[in-house]
Amino acid sequence: MIKYLTIAFVLILNVSLAQEKLNIVASASMISDMAEQIIGPLHDVEMIVAIGGDPHLHEPTPSNARMVAGADLVLINGLTFEGWITELIENSGTSAKVLTVTQGIQPLTSQTYKNSADPHAWMDVSNATIYADNIAQAMIQLDPKNTATYEKRLANYKAELVALDKEIEATIQSIPQQQRILITSHDAFQYYGKRYGIRLEAIMGISTEAQAQTADIKRVNKVIREQGVPAIFIESTINPKMMQQLAQDNKISIGGKLYADSLGDKDSPASTYVDMLRYNTQTIAAALKQTAEIDDSAHKNTTNYSFIIGLGVVLLLGLGLAIYLSNR
Ligand SMILES: [Zn+2]
Repeated sequence: MIKYLTIAFVLILNVSLAQEKLNIVASASMISDMAEQIIGPLHDVEMIVAIGGDPHLHEPTPSNARMVAGADLVLINGLTFEGWITELIENSGTSAKVLTVTQGIQPLTSQTYKNSADPHAWMDVSNATIYADNIAQAMIQLDPKNTATYEKRLANYKAELVALDKEIEATIQSIPQQQRILITSHDAFQYYGKRYGIRLEAIMGISTEAQAQTADIKRVNKVIREQGVPAIFIESTINPKMMQQLAQDNKISIGGKLYADSLGDKDSPASTYVDMLRYNTQTIAAALKQTAEIDDSAHKNTTNYSFIIGLGVVLLLGLGLAIYLSNR
């Protein structure tokens, strides 16, 4: 009897403990990973845009609305990254606190759209420490009895971020200076470039909504030829066709797949925020350290054309001479 009572008691205790778990909902996978690092097993963290999805273009589903409705805290990047989120939050009728995790960072202005901020602030690891601080503060407010745990986990995570920041800087600096040019599909790496000293060129702007323009492709083609860029990169959330065409046209390689707006899945080398930044950096450095021949293909084409024109002139002269001789 006592045994059964104990079992019943343990079951009730488990249920009540389970009910105490809070629901934390993050818009994108990078933010949900940062939240998990700080919260650990204390509460549940879910993401709205699934791994591999494009948060710029996400279309909220009814299950997203239910997720937000049941949330205690909603974490968003802001800076117009998730253009659809305000409506989703309003329509869900949630009473959750909404935290913009970029609050307190110095936003960069978009290179393409003069009046808007560039949302990709997480690409600079020193900003990620601000994201982490903001998340930890919100958790302490929401769940003050676990303050010590949040503070400890935050300190450990920030130490990891500081080490990562130094590691990325050293890796990028190991690429010969004139080869530090990063060419991607969309302009997600401005914060990264500014922090770690690498020049950026992208076909599309800071959002993936706009179509690439012929002028943009010409501009990037020119950079590749003039600077002898050895490789360009595709992104995990964007169709690689355009970059593959650009690489083929310039006879250069695709340096690899970078993760900018989403983590990779569990089996990928970029399943956490820290791994994502580390993997991107190693991929970029390995590809850009190769040497490319500056303007080689253009040069070869010119040679071929002069040869064909020369041959044509010789044939015409020969023909003219033959007609002249036969008419004498
Ligand atoms: Zn983006």
